[in-house]
Amino acid sequence: MTRLERYYNYIDGTWVGAETYRLIDDPATGEPYAEIADASTSDADAALQAARRCVDSCALSSVRPAQRVTWLLAIADEIRALTEEAAAVLSRENGKSLDVARGEFTEAARYFEYYAGMADKIEGVSIPLGDGYVDFTSYEPMGVSVQIVPWNFPPSICARSLAPALAAGNAVVVKSPEVSPLAMTFLMTACERAGLPKGAVNLLCGDGSLVGAHLVGRALTNQIVFTGSVATGQSILRAAAEHATPCVMEMGGKSAAIVHPDADIEQVLASVRSGIFFNSGQVCSAMSRLLVHRSRLAEVTRRVTELAESLSIGSGFENRYITPLVSKAQLAQVEGMCQRAMADGARCLTGGERVSGTAGYLMQPTVFVDVAVNSEIFQQEVFGPVLVIHPFDSEDEAVELANGTAFGLVAGVFDRQLDRALRTARRLRGGQVFINEWFAGGIETPFGGVGLSGFGREKGQEALYSYVQTRNIAIRISGE
Ligand code: NAD
Repeated sequence: MTRLERYYNYIDGTWVGAETYRLIDDPATGEPYAEIADASTSDADAALQAARRCVDSCALSSVRPAQRVTWLLAIADEIRALTEEAAAVLSRENGKSLDVARGEFTEAARYFEYYAGMADKIEGVSIPLGDGYVDFTSYEPMGVSVQIVPWNFPPSICARSLAPALAAGNAVVVKSPEVSPLAMTFLMTACERAGLPKGAVNLLCGDGSLVGAHLVGRALTNQIVFTGSVATGQSILRAAAEHATPCVMEMGGKSAAIVHPDADIEQVLASVRSGIFFNSGQVCSAMSRLLVHRSRLAEVTRRVTELAESLSIGSGFENRYITPLVSKAQLAQVEGMCQRAMADGARCLTGGERVSGTAGYLMQPTVFVDVAVNSEIFQQEVFGPVLVIHPFDSEDEAVELANGTAFGLVAGVFDRQLDRALRTARRLRGGQVFINEWFAGGIETPFGGVGLSGFGREKGQEALYSYVQTRNIAIRISGE
């Protein structure tokens, strides 16, 4: 039997094996094709201690900030150099298309470039206290930042937190997801080649309920940055309470786009294509509900269904638009939700089940109508290529429907009348609202949720301040 390709954890500047190795499936075939060292709680402690030593030595925080700029830019360059190789691994382990995988590494490089630009501009303020005093604030690193990453965009979500954390002088322990952890190792290679101090970055692949839970419950952990599901997030928040560890929480969504009577249908269709079908719908900020003014319902429903039926389906290596979901479990979860939606009375216009005749984890692009507002498919995240279309008669009703879930990550409005679009946008619950283009933001725009979607912000200049704590120094300079 041929030996599977092996991947390792990265602790204190060294690639580390383990007693056991976790098999990684190829979602296009369902067959294992690689394995990765399965981290233990001792590995987690070793990583935390390495990060702590790095923090205590001030190797990142006491250098001239320009040195951190140099490191971050070098990491970005190394990521770009590794992109072709790393994207092939990501596509294979995750199912996603090569184009999407390449895009993730480009985005990862951009995070490092963007926060490199801020690493030497983390400036405090001077506060006047009258004669005889000097007072100023400084932004200090949090210390050891533990970052827990999900499987849908592992390298880019990892870079989203890693880059600002390093820019601000923190040391980081990253926990990769059990499914699709391989491509993240290339980010560590980039950090290693860029010459980051030992212990500044550490990467562990291990069981979430064991290694992840261990990391978030330790006193050595000074900050938790979590991206993942609501249930896991809630258990992390309970663990964080023990040491009052500050958290940034990025959880799921059930985001709605509102299509007003004057919406441009081509803008709507282009946004539906990427909004719910990009990465086969495995996107936290997916447009999973399309709320359409009744006057446009028939037209939009027909065109969206045609669009769903026109998308290319196949493996990531064939670079299709709809590619296999990440795992057998995810496929079962998505298909199960579709079956329950139909049992609840929803009408499936296209899709609704897996693609037959393949061992790959392929789900058909799916469109539902006649959905009850209190049903699971209208209220809960699917995390697959499944769209719900629902009518509204007034702006008030559209806002109520859009805001009527426990989530609040993003939302969207489509309307040629910008005054109405803006008015609607301001009423929507969520950290980011798109007008006339879903995903119109970028790494430069703050992103995060309210309600069960979480709290704290990633991306943009604002996110850097998630990775620092304010210190005030008040000096009495004369005895007068
Ligand atoms: P998940 O919650 O199952 O796992 C996420 C990570 O948490 C994994 O690394 C896992 O090992 C770890 N984990 C599991 N149990 C843990 C515990 N008790 N303590 C510490 N860590 C633990 O999520 P997933 O299935 O990997 O990802 C899909 C979910 O992530 C979806 O709900 C999606 O909406 C959400 N997501 C949110 C964003 C965002 O920015 N808001 C982005 C991507 C994904």
